Amino acid sequence: MIITDTHTHLYSKDFDEDRGEMIHRAIEEGVSRFFIPAIDSEHTEAMLQLEKEYPNNMFLMMGLHPTHVKDNYKAELKHVEDMLAKRHFYAVGEIGIDLYWDKSTLGIQQEAFKHQIKLAKQYKLPIVIHCRDAFNEIFEVLETEKSDDLFGIFHCFTGTLEQAHQAISYNMKLGIGGVATFKNGKIDTFLNEIDLKHVVLETDAPYLAPAPYRGKRNESAYVIKVLEKLVYIYGVSLEEIAAITTQNSKDVFKI
Ligand SMILES: [Zn+2]
Repeated sequence: MIITDTHTHLYSKDFDEDRGEMIHRAIEEGVSRFFIPAIDSEHTEAMLQLEKEYPNNMFLMMGLHPTHVKDNYKAELKHVEDMLAKRHFYAVGEIGIDLYWDKSTLGIQQEAFKHQIKLAKQYKLPIVIHCRDAFNEIFEVLETEKSDDLFGIFHCFTGTLEQAHQAISYNMKLGIGGVATFKNGKIDTFLNEIDLKHVVLETDAPYLAPAPYRGKRNESAYVIKVLEKLVYIYGVSLEEIAAITTQNSKDVFKI
């Protein structure tokens, strides 16, 4: 059984004490494919290091996270461009709009999002979207950018059934993580109406740990808890969900 964590920040400082053990715990559970979203240029070195240590398991993305779109965003976008020109990444991510932490940067967040979508199209890469309190703003951008060469993952999807259909209409898979296991997570109530071919698994470690670890540090091995929840929601075997969601991740990332 091969399980894919499509979104995990394994380079986070939260893992500095036990990163190796934590990664091996995941691999022993069958979680052997890790897709690593970028945040900003400060994390690039640590991401490259991770790839060097686990070349068969770690697949890097490049991008500027919306909460890190600040005064220096032009220099940060230049870093993203330079890195994409230099070597292969598996996606442009995570990118998007976050109005939970800071509404005042909406204008430059929109600009950075659009700019990075263009880069993804240029390199024929998927995008990995971060959306927090910003469904309308994200959909507005996707509506203007939609095309056959726009595709990717709507990471940590927490919207309604209608928003799920809309995301899928822009060639996005839904990244399902710990929120699906929360009592008030809501998406578990309608997810079975979404075909599994649109679903990928993720942890967003070290954030958003699934039940029963909610509130604690998340790690990639816990993606099994999300998988078990999908077994319950879809009434399909663990092996089948692992196989389908891993295949979906291959379709998106081309690896
Ligand atoms: Zn993330």
